[in-house]
Amino acid sequence: MSIATNLSDVLTQIEQIKAAHQISHKVELLAVSKMKPYEDIKEAYQAGQRLFGESYAQEAVDKIKRSKEEGLKDLSWFFIGPLQSNKTRQIAENFDWVLSCDRAKLLQRLNDQRPDKMRPLNICLQVNISNEDQKQGMEQDQVQDLAKLCNDLPNLVLRGVMGIALNTTDNTILQNEFTQLKNIFLQLQASYHTVDTLSMGMSADMSPAISCGSNLVRIGTRIFGERNYNKG
Ligand SMILES: *Cc1c(COP(=O)(O)O)cnc(C)c1O
Repeated sequence: MSIATNLSDVLTQIEQIKAAHQISHKVELLAVSKMKPYEDIKEAYQAGQRLFGESYAQEAVDKIKRSKEEGLKDLSWFFIGPLQSNKTRQIAENFDWVLSCDRAKLLQRLNDQRPDKMRPLNICLQVNISNEDQKQGMEQDQVQDLAKLCNDLPNLVLRGVMGIALNTTDNTILQNEFTQLKNIFLQLQASYHTVDTLSMGMSADMSPAISCGSNLVRIGTRIFGERNYNKG
């Protein structure tokens, strides 16, 4: 299967899920290219894909630089991985969005390190919806404080929330977690006019995520194939 075919299959599936649940808003596709070579990104780009998600700062910066050298236009880069303080500068200087912000200190650093000549950095707050200790994401009772901080920082724009559901095929659990995040999204939207993004759903749980209101799914495996965590 080619990346172009996979992409068009995923886009078709998104439309089918929307139709089945009578969803009329736009659902955008973020192609998660972490651990995949630059050539795969280029192939997806040539097939029309414009939004890409990366999880490792240095790997991502190399790909972003290359896409600029080669003159690829209209790309948007989303940082979706665990955020570390010592990586925020690279991220602030190269990305358009950060979906995985979960601490005040990181928001502050991203704001301070965002170059003045760039547009403000788009931020989604990552919320822990699966209650797994090892998962990234703030607790739900921290969302209001961090949303206010993000909104107050001049080089950041609060765009919404992101969540990763439990790795399960149990639809009741998935729907419960996705609905919690949707409710947080609606609350934020009532307070901040910049909030428009509810990012939930990956390759395995795209369907329940869209049925619960996601408007930005993050899909890696279904587009680029399995990632090999053991190589190198
Ligand atoms: C890797 C990753 C994805 C994509 O996962 P797939 O199962 O390959 O679709 C989505 N979101 C986040 C935060 C990720 O780290």
